[in-house]
Amino acid sequence: MAPSADGSDTDPQVPIFCPDCETTSRVSLPDVADAIDRHNEHVHDGDDVASVDPDIADRIADLAAKDLGLLDDDS
Ligand SMILES: [Zn+2]
Repeated sequence: MAPSADGSDTDPQVPIFCPDCETTSRVSLPDVADAIDRHNEHVHDGDDVASVDPDIADRIADLAAKDLGLLDDDS
């Protein structure tokens, strides 16, 4: 797989922070919910511990909107 050279965006990497483990792992946007689920399920018995940083989550909303073409008006 070659990186796209035509200016189209790749999947943004989203940091997931777990205060209990004091770890941050980066996953691509489509995998975020899954990765959080899996981590909490396997490491924390299903407790809702790991999550996306709220600051980042805010930017993800922007990225998602852009991905859907809501902010991108140059077609
Ligand atoms: Zn953890």
